Amino acid sequence: MDRKLKCPNCGAETRAEGNRYRPFCSRRCKLIDLGAWLGEEYTISSPITERDVSIKTQREEGD
Ligand SMILES: [Zn+2]
Repeated sequence: MDRKLKCPNCGAETRAEGNRYRPFCSRRCKLIDLGAWLGEEYTISSPITERDVSIKTQREEGD
């Protein structure tokens, strides 16, 4: 099965199979989207620290 997705960040067509960054096409798009989301959160309140973000990033890279 070859399910196709559209990257929410850049709109590029990408596959779900074997895509660890789905629904994004790449790590870069995922991080951009995460950054945008965090940026919005910061304007409302600021419970998320930079340390939390770096921990998540390290987990993804350590696979
Ligand atoms: Zn993308």
